[in-house]
Amino acid sequence: MSLKYCILTIQERCRCGLSQSSICPLCSANEESILHMMRDCPSMKGSWLKVIPSALTRSFFMAPLFDWVMDNLTNKDNFLGMVIPWAIFFLTFIWQIWKRRNCFVFNDSSHGIDDTLHHSISWSTHIEACRQPTTPPRARQPTLTMWQPSIHVQHCLNIDASVDVLSGLGSVVGVLRTRE
Ligand SMILES: [Zn+2]
Repeated sequence: MSLKYCILTIQERCRCGLSQSSICPLCSANEESILHMMRDCPSMKGSWLKVIPSALTRSFFMAPLFDWVMDNLTNKDNFLGMVIPWAIFFLTFIWQIWKRRNCFVFNDSSHGIDDTLHHSISWSTHIEACRQPTTPPRARQPTLTMWQPSIHVQHCLNIDASVDVLSGLGSVVGVLRTRE
């Protein structure tokens, strides 16, 4: 949605005549564009600096929106040496940033950016775990069980029974067999 400019930022609301001001509600210092909301707002820039892969450091805060998103989604690094691909963490962090911003705008409450970062790590860890192939459970192999007559006895009585615990009804079945 961000690549299609379909996110209703304050700047977009202002452009449509839905808001008097286009100033970011979190920092009150710049217009709230999509890139400002996701990347450039001083309220979250420090968190990005803690986590961005070294390969992206040089261009991270300079790239225009489309290039920025695509560079991050195609980056093959893992997040901070963990097993989480950077692209997965990037998407979850963006989502959590948008959610945090909306909590502030609509509910006048907001978690700290470090909480948002930890939520994103937790989400991406879970998503990555779900992506891993799992070995299907082994199908149960039916085993043929049959009565073997004993060489020491002439007759055998096999009994089985069952009870329905709700109704209290039960039944018993028996089979009397000879050696032959
Ligand atoms: Zn801001």
